[in-house]
Amino acid sequence: MTELLYLFDHYLKEFDASIIETPDPNSVVLDRTAVYPRGGGQPSDKAKLVSSNDGFTIKIVEAIKDEGKVIHKLSTALDETKRQTLPGNKVHGTIDWDLRYKHMRHHTALHILSGVVFLKFNARITGGQIYPERARLDLALSDLSKERQSIIEEEMNKIVNEDHEVKTVWLDREEALKRSELYRLTGDMLPKGVEKLRLVDIVGFDAQLDGGTHVSHTGEIGKIKISKTENKGKDNKRIEIVLI
Ligand SMILES: [Zn+2]
Repeated sequence: MTELLYLFDHYLKEFDASIIETPDPNSVVLDRTAVYPRGGGQPSDKAKLVSSNDGFTIKIVEAIKDEGKVIHKLSTALDETKRQTLPGNKVHGTIDWDLRYKHMRHHTALHILSGVVFLKFNARITGGQIYPERARLDLALSDLSKERQSIIEEEMNKIVNEDHEVKTVWLDREEALKRSELYRLTGDMLPKGVEKLRLVDIVGFDAQLDGGTHVSHTGEIGKIKISKTENKGKDNKRIEIVLI
């Protein structure tokens, strides 16, 4: 099991951990990590690990979740001796903060977008993806007129300018099941076997169940602009946003 430190502190940039396995020459598993593994539309972090034993440096190009573990993918394969001696080593990890912070600003911006279309037009999410310089959301929406686009843009920037606090709250599964407004994906099912679910609450605006990383105040996002819209079907519209 890997303890997911980023779930509890979105601003954790450095951490200490132990290598517990090297499942193949290109992967290490840690007992705890602040490196975000790709998921929920948010891309993986990049990071650096330095061994406390001998200063050996490992560059992490991607992290992925595998059951309860986070597999950290290496830029260069380990030789066999290194692979066998690394487990048990303590490491100091540093994440690529510039990249992560861009993902955080875009992720919170997408929650504002989905909050606005849910509250104004009762539309749920059919898909989405975050990139360092843009993000997009697909929405179960039949009408995305120019007029609606201006309303959405105006409302999003109002929430940014009001600088709402963004906080996380843990909910019991039973409590979460009673509140269908908290999960936004069309046909979304709560993950099986999970007793506690995490809510990302843009205080005074909108809350959604989510496992990603977010800024602590909406003012950190900057101005949100709709850069592109696309018709993905009768009841499916894509909105792309950029931060300016
Ligand atoms: Zn999210």
